[in-house]
Amino acid sequence: MEQIVEALAALDAKTMILMAAVLYFSLTMVMFYTYFFRKTYPGFASLALGQLFWSLGVYLVFYRVLGDHLSLALSNGLLFLQAVCWHHGIAMYGGITPLRPRLLTNVALAVLAELAILYYVYVDFNTCRRVVIFSAFSALLYSRIALEPYLVRRWKTYSMQGIYSAIFLSVAVAFAVRAVQAVNATDCQVGGPDAIVKLLLLASMWIFAFLTFCVLSMTSSRVEAELREARDALRQQAQTDALTGLSNRRHFLEQAQAVLEDLEAHGGRASLIMLDLDHFKRINDVHGHQAGDLALQEAARHLRAALRDGDVIGRLGGEEFGVLLPGLEAGEALAVARQLRRAVAASRPGGLRVTASFGLADGALRLDSLLAQADEYLYAAKEAGRDRIAWSGGLVADNESGEALA
Ligand code: GH3
Ligand code: MG
Ligand code: MG
Repeated sequence: MEQIVEALAALDAKTMILMAAVLYFSLTMVMFYTYFFRKTYPGFASLALGQLFWSLGVYLVFYRVLGDHLSLALSNGLLFLQAVCWHHGIAMYGGITPLRPRLLTNVALAVLAELAILYYVYVDFNTCRRVVIFSAFSALLYSRIALEPYLVRRWKTYSMQGIYSAIFLSVAVAFAVRAVQAVNATDCQVGGPDAIVKLLLLASMWIFAFLTFCVLSMTSSRVEAELREARDALRQQAQTDALTGLSNRRHFLEQAQAVLEDLEAHGGRASLIMLDLDHFKRINDVHGHQAGDLALQEAARHLRAALRDGDVIGRLGGEEFGVLLPGLEAGEALAVARQLRRAVAASRPGGLRVTASFGLADGALRLDSLLAQADEYLYAAKEAGRDRIAWSGGLVADNESGEALA
């Protein structure tokens, strides 16, 4: 501890202030660069402006280049604006609406605080009062910046937000403590004794750099998250049939191929069912295309519900569906096909009677031969009068309660 105090004492405060100013300004340039050239997210103009106000404000507090009174009055105002800008920027970034009332409240508070500062600079020069006002205002705004992302519904937060908020909250607490202390104090110096000023400067340099890093890092993680969401949504779209929500043909074939390869590698069996709604053109012609769409949706829903989790189903095109049943040999698959036949009959879209014909293939683990075989059987089921299942064992037609008709 002593060594730290010694090291601090060896540092020249004026040089440190200059170094801090250089750092603040360079980081401000980083924020402006982000605003001008990386227009991905809103809020950076406010954040960058806030940093600029901060840099100028801190510089003026220490370097009083405009004389004591004007420098104090102006620097306080700049630092108030800094907090307002940061709150506004971070609220924009978080996608919060409405923004205007929040901004107006903060600006009104800043104007009131600045009026009080002007009074305690020009009318009754009182450093302790100014410290109370400045610290209370900063405590309020910084705690809003820290906590609102978690308290306001719909505020979007990204990784690093926690650390970002924690830093602001600790700065807010420090200001609150300082405000309370200064209420009863008789002798207040801006920044306190030399060693504390240096320590605060060091801390502010670290905090300033780290906050800039946090915002940029939040932004890159946000870009990543949104890219991932967009990619997943695109993939989902590319794989899904928009009308029924089932896998589309391509995805069904991919999934089926993968399952078959897995079965081949580990030893297993599978059956494949192809089904086609009967006289579907007639449904469209008589009841309209919308009724046809509804029939497809309802059939898809009932088919999906009748299957196990590991079964693969997809819309092969038009009113034709494919179902791969891993692990089932033909006899077991026939039972599933009968359930599916009843499922279609039970769908009754808009009260219409809808039936389907089925082709059931098994015995091979090659997708193309399963598809060709199922297609042949499906054709046979259509030829034999529709609303039935064709498979290697012949033709099966049940009534709706499951009793065999043929
Ligand atoms: P079959 O019993 O022999 O299968 O007769 P079908 O009328 O069902 O067969 P066909 O292939 O002649 O007609 C299929 C119809 O399915 C033609 C097409 O307009 C209709 N169709 C295909 N896709 C859609 C769709 O997405 N929505 C609607 N409403 N109709 C579709
Ligand atoms: Mg058809
Ligand atoms: Mg067809």
